[in-house]
Order: sequence, then structure tokens, then C-alpha cells
Amino acid sequence: MNHAESLAQYQAFKQQGLKLDMSRGKPAPEQLDLSLPLLDAVDGYKAADGTDTRNYGGAVGLPEARALFAEILDLPAAQVVVDGNSSLALMHDSIVFGLLYGVPGGSKPWGQQGQITFLCPVPGYDRHFAICEALGIKMINIPMSDAGPDMDLVEQLVKDDASIKGMWCVPKYSNPGGVVYSDEVVARLAAMQTAAPDFRIIWDDAYRVHHLSTEHVLVANLVDACAKAGNADRALVFASTSKITLAGAGLAALASSPANIAAWTRAVSTRTIGSDKVNQLRHVRFLKNKAGVEALMEKHRLILKPKFDVVLEQFEALLGGIEGVSWTYPKGGYFIDLLTPAGKARRTVELAKEAGITLTPAGAAFPYGKDPQDRHIRIAPSFPSLPEIKEAARGISLALRVAIGE
Ligand code: PLP
Repeated sequence: MNHAESLAQYQAFKQQGLKLDMSRGKPAPEQLDLSLPLLDAVDGYKAADGTDTRNYGGAVGLPEARALFAEILDLPAAQVVVDGNSSLALMHDSIVFGLLYGVPGGSKPWGQQGQITFLCPVPGYDRHFAICEALGIKMINIPMSDAGPDMDLVEQLVKDDASIKGMWCVPKYSNPGGVVYSDEVVARLAAMQTAAPDFRIIWDDAYRVHHLSTEHVLVANLVDACAKAGNADRALVFASTSKITLAGAGLAALASSPANIAAWTRAVSTRTIGSDKVNQLRHVRFLKNKAGVEALMEKHRLILKPKFDVVLEQFEALLGGIEGVSWTYPKGGYFIDLLTPAGKARRTVELAKEAGITLTPAGAAFPYGKDPQDRHIRIAPSFPSLPEIKEAARGISLALRVAIGE
């Protein structure tokens, strides 16, 4: 197809008057339906230890909810807190607590140490970067490979610069690149020397059980690796059931060293008398255990996989062989990262929008919204129906062909 033909097909596509929002990786209604039994899962309100879940209390979560996440995260329940419905909120609060009160091992709150910095593997999750931007934390881009962040660069930066207090990591099926951190990367993150004694890795395990293939990829346990390397307090692990049960009414968890959990518990007790234990109890009744979670995730996979496949088929048919164009084949998670020739991502998103397809803004996967090469487009196939997603992938491909030809 030459430029004139691409343009003609793009114009015809536009005439359809399609309206599709693919800007966020939201579960589709039929995925949310899988957890409808959750709404009736509680046949009483007493937790296993006799706690009346209707009342105040329990800021670290019900014992059985902590045990459920402990099994999923492969850590002791005593090192897990279940709180609220959003892991992003827990990440936000952990960083705010670091700024206000400091973290174990630090001499002063982060907020009293001048300008502090976080390392940001890119492309990454826009909402992580939004937290840093809102809180005045400087960000440094770290390039990613198929095995995780560029560890030579990370080690070199953290060794000499005590203002680097944190690093964002999505270790499995990363948003948006689908990257899985290798055992070597995990070991190096755990063992590296940091100039800051109060350095933290924000280990956002958002897609831990969100497989797209039947191969269940494993990532090494960072909390264990840090403890073994003598850096027990380095890792803060986050997870939630947002894309397991109900995205707006799930459970979120934080797991870490005993010292970090104690510091969290102290700090959080000033902001809540306890979170929604009724929701925790019904989640435990519904999900039961890790096997229950895995069985439910297989049902999600069967809904999601065809949507990813249809996008990949369209890309192969319409974009295959074009110089500078490539895309990821994720084994899990919620995204495909579409790479355009340099300088073409923004324009492609613009052309897609004119054709009725709203995508995540180009650049959103980078700190300050700036993709230095303007190459990455985050594709979120989960929410639209299968026929819609096929059309959308065709429209995006045509938009990219037109952008390249301009
Ligand atoms: N972390 C990552 C990497 C995500 O992609 C998302 C949602 O898309 C979240 C966290 C949000 O998690 P939660 O719903 O638990 O706040």
C-alpha cells in the first residue's frame, strides 16, 4: 500500500464515525461480571478471629486477607498490610510518608533533604510519574531492555548520588512494555550499593497473576533477595485485586520488611481507624486462596487473549515490514507498546483521534510526558469489544501509515 492508498483507506475509516476510548487499561464489563458473585459472597460479618468486620479497627487488614496476599506474594502474612482498594494510593502514601516522616534507615525525612530524585525505567506507568511530579520529586529516565532496566546505569547513578531515594519498578508484564525482570536484574537491584541509606524500590507488582499465555512467568522475590543482600528495608511491594475482581472495589496490599511494615502502621494510624474489612472478608470468601485467584485469572485470560491477538494480527497485516515500526508481544499485563519511527507517535495519536480513536497521549509513558524520540504509543486492548478492538487496531495502523507518509 503506498501513501495515497493508505490515505484513502484512512479517510474511508474516518467516515465510519467510530467513537472508541482506548486511553486506559480498564477491564471490560464481561471481565467485571466474572466477580459478580463477590457481591453475595458474605454470609455473615465475623472474620476468622471473631472480628466484627462492620466496625472500626484493623488498619493493617484482616488476618485472612493478609494471608491471601501473603500466599500470592510469597511472603509472610506478618509482612503484608491490606488497606483500601487502590495500590496506587498505597504507593502515593508511602512516598508522602517518606517525605514527611522519613523511612527506616534514614536520618531525616526525605522532604528535609533538599531536592530528591527517583529513577524511572521508561517507558513506564504515567501515574507513577504523576506522583513524582505532584510531590516535586525529580525524575531520571532509565532505558529498559527485554530483561528490565539498564542496571549498569542504575548502579552507577545510585552509588554516588545520595539524593536518589527511590526507583519505580513494574517487575512483571510492565506497563506498557510488557517487560519481565530477569533474575540477574532482581539480584543486582537487591545488592547494589546506594549512597542513600534511605533508598527504596517501589516494586509495583500490578500484573503478578495477569498472564496472557499459558506460561506463568515467575520473577524472583525482591524482598527475600534484599534481606539476603543485607538491604532488608529496600523493597516496598504493592499489589491489588483491581484487575482480578472489581477495578473500583477491590483490595490493595503493601508487603515489605518488618521495619517498613511497622513504620507504615505507625504512619497510617493517623489517617484511618481501619479500612473496609467487609470487602476484605467477601474477597477472601470469593477468592479463597491463590488457586482460586489463578482459576479466576484464567477466565480473564480467555477474554483478554483474543483481543490482544486481533491487535497483533492487524499490526502484522498493515504495519509488518515498515522500517522503524515494531511492537511488543506481551506474555501478560494489559498493554502493547507500539513503536513508530522517531517523531511519529504524537502525530499518529492525533490522526487516530481524528478518526474517532482516543489513545493514551503520546509521551505519557515518560516522566513529564516527554518521550525524547516521540516513538511510543501505548495500546490498551482490554476494554473495547472484540469487533471494536479489531477496527481500532486497523484505524491506528492506518493513522501510523499516514503519519509516516506525510
Ligand atoms: N500499577 C500499574 C503498573 C498499573 O498499570 C495500574 C493500573 O493500570 C495500577 C498500578 C493501578 O493499581 P490500583 O488499581 O491498585 O490502584
